[in-house]
Amino acid sequence: MFSTFPLMNKIVYNFSAGPSTLPKQATAEAAAAIADFASTGIGIMEMSHRTKPIEGMVAETESLLRELLSIPSGYEILFLGGGASLQFCMVPSNLLDSNASADYTDTGVWANKALKEAKKFGKVNVVCSSKESVYNHIPKNFEQTSGATYLHVTSNNTIYGTQWKEFPKANTYLVCDMSSDILSRPIDVSKFGLIYAGAQKNMGPAGVAAVIVRSDILGKVQRDIPTMLDYRTHIPEHSMFNTPPVFSIYVVNRVLHWLKNLGGVAAMEKINIKKANLLYDALDNSKLFKGTAAKEDRSTMNIPFVFREEAVAADKKEAVEKKFLAMAQEKGLEQLKGHRSVGGFRASIYNAMPIEGVEALVGFLGEFENLAH
Ligand SMILES: *Cc1c(COP(=O)(O)O)cnc(C)c1O
Repeated sequence: MFSTFPLMNKIVYNFSAGPSTLPKQATAEAAAAIADFASTGIGIMEMSHRTKPIEGMVAETESLLRELLSIPSGYEILFLGGGASLQFCMVPSNLLDSNASADYTDTGVWANKALKEAKKFGKVNVVCSSKESVYNHIPKNFEQTSGATYLHVTSNNTIYGTQWKEFPKANTYLVCDMSSDILSRPIDVSKFGLIYAGAQKNMGPAGVAAVIVRSDILGKVQRDIPTMLDYRTHIPEHSMFNTPPVFSIYVVNRVLHWLKNLGGVAAMEKINIKKANLLYDALDNSKLFKGTAAKEDRSTMNIPFVFREEAVAADKKEAVEKKFLAMAQEKGLEQLKGHRSVGGFRASIYNAMPIEGVEALVGFLGEFENLAH
């Protein structure tokens, strides 16, 4: 049911930050559909998107996402190529007029990339930043700019392991990059004008991004938006203006079915909190390891951790890190190397990571601590 993969009798847990682990059931169903989709005798990658089975599948994916996130009417759902990074420019292209401004929160590398891109379209007010402290916390006390079109936030900072636990109240509306924690917890969609998320962290494979947009915020900018970058091109066509990434959308479809069967996002949130607490408790009680993110902002999805300075001498650190990663890998605990900007290690424990994976990691942390370094 979860994403475990028996490799020569060894269970592998994949802690990759993205693309990342998917529910085993979803990937098995997707694999079967490559050979034969919906008993048509045609593989899903070989079928026109202008057919009933594919149109039906995309429509069902849309309605599943609407149901799981309780997306109210007035909001449209799109499945687009180009990843979350394309949304860094598509959002301001559609929403930010050249003589207007938007507020951006600078909470990590992805947030920073989003605001840099927006500067190409209008004025960007960086209303807060935690860059000086290597993005180890979410800066919460900031003023919004009067007249700003929207307030942009990055829900979960994948690299630094911080997460908005409560979203700021926007003067107008929030725009949110939810790439690395969408579907991990219930959200109040009505607070957002637009939500976007690359699928490959918590929702499916690379190749597709979901966009949830309140339609009344569109059509307010003066510029002539290129056809493919205009949300209004894709809305009436239900993401089928041109050939959509059909297979990626299908994997999302299977992941959404899996999530629904599990009890939806509220049930998922409980499991996610349990998994994260298990790992954070182990790190807090360890004499060797410690987490890097400020406690109150800790992510339930990405957990970076390093050796405590007093536990490992600086000149030995690199060698001990190598040893840790090699031993972890032997135990089937994969992809634990930290991002270069934080160093150390990072465990990404997205929705599809089973609690057994986190338990195995916690067990290994204890074992490793007991070795002499
Ligand atoms: C991974 C990630 C991105 C980039 O996604 P792409 O689909 O590769 O463009 C953007 N934002 C966040 C928060 C991410 O985690």
